[in-house]
Amino acid sequence: MISFWEQQSFSGYDYTVVGGGLVGTSTALNIKTMFPKASVVVVDGGIFPKGASTRNAGFACFGSLSELCADIESMGEVAARELVQDRWSGLQILRNRLGDPNLHYKNYGGYELIFDNHLDLLERVDQVNQWLWPIFNKPVFQINARLSQEFGFNTSRVASIIHNPFEGQLDSGAMMKSLLTLAAEKGVRFLTGSRVDSWHAESDQTVLQISGQGDHITIRTQKLAICTNAFTNKLLPDLEIKPGRGLVLITKDVPSLRFQGAFHYQQGYYYFRNVGSRVLFGGGRNLDFSEEETTDFGINQKILEHLQQELVDLILPNQHFEIDQYWSGIMAFGPDKRPLVGLHTPNVGYAVRLGGMGVALGSRVAEQLARLICFSEND
Ligand SMILES: Cc1cc2nc3c(=O)[nH]c(=O)nc-3n(C[C@H](O)[C@H](O)[C@H](O)COP(=O)(O)OP(=O)(O)OC[C@H]3O[C@@H](n4cnc5c(N)ncnc54)[C@H](O)[C@@H]3O)c2cc1C
Repeated sequence: MISFWEQQSFSGYDYTVVGGGLVGTSTALNIKTMFPKASVVVVDGGIFPKGASTRNAGFACFGSLSELCADIESMGEVAARELVQDRWSGLQILRNRLGDPNLHYKNYGGYELIFDNHLDLLERVDQVNQWLWPIFNKPVFQINARLSQEFGFNTSRVASIIHNPFEGQLDSGAMMKSLLTLAAEKGVRFLTGSRVDSWHAESDQTVLQISGQGDHITIRTQKLAICTNAFTNKLLPDLEIKPGRGLVLITKDVPSLRFQGAFHYQQGYYYFRNVGSRVLFGGGRNLDFSEEETTDFGINQKILEHLQQELVDLILPNQHFEIDQYWSGIMAFGPDKRPLVGLHTPNVGYAVRLGGMGVALGSRVAEQLARLICFSEND
């Protein structure tokens, strides 16, 4: 049972954000920046945010050539370019807000491995560079077939490599730590280990039922922002969102590692990068789509074994390495790669379904949601 004092100081807020990942924390920070006197709280079910933001690969990317070609096909040129623009803007917001040293941001570039059966992709380079020109004012993709040997990959599989100098990499833990610190400094409050079980509207307020550590509490808020990405179906069942689990592993230091940068292959289903002289490698969800359509953190042995084999065969052939750690995180997908940002009612908004490039997109959609929720009016 809640005390009088708790009720006075802890149970009412101007703005409540559910979900404290990159999107939720950035949304709260944006609201607090626009309205410094407003009370803003972030409620998260994890001890620290536990979804995708602290469990991803840390690619600061906006799409490899093969992914962008697939997006143009499925979404059309205009929508696909808008999405690239939003990812690119999101990255600039993130870097400006937190600063490259706090993100451990490294501008090592991005690369896509092209196998024999996809050599036709190379013919699309000029056309896609032209299409991206309005955003970057420079060619984005360049072919460099010699890099495969230089980087020590299996040259019997990698026929060519496409280089993208605009891509970078960051440390996702450092990113979230720095963002949480900044939000707290600005006066955003956090309730962690606190799961929102349900919410409903009551006259001009929204009421949330929250549980954590065996307790159940109710809080009231003027405005509610839902930023729960893959876990949104319980709170907003009408949105079209499918969870997708992603597996990531990291090796111990690899002596004389020959590459630095962020690498993709097979339309982004596989991705690897250096972390110092370790190799971080993830993906393979396409091997078992149905099993990976889950919000349960867990390890798919079939995918783990495949990733280990790919390290041996493709990425680090003839080099000794040891796996140090592996983990999973949960992404959110829909019929296309666009996120869902909108108002459920004038007092309840959402920014969810961030897909596989939410590190890039997150700060941008948080800006959109903060504006929507702050300036929406009841009739
Ligand atoms: C393995 C993997 C690799 C990835 N690699 C990259 C990459 O290299 N580059 C890139 O750009 N993107 C990458 N992504 C995608 C990116 O990490 C996500 O799109 C982004 O972090 C989504 O942020 P978010 O804040 O929307 O969601 P999340 O980080 O998932 O945050 C949602 C939060 O909501 C909380 N929550 C959920 N339900 C409730 C509830 N009922 N009550 C209270 N709290 C709740 C959760 O605890 C969680 O903290 C990757 C994702 C994964 C899983």
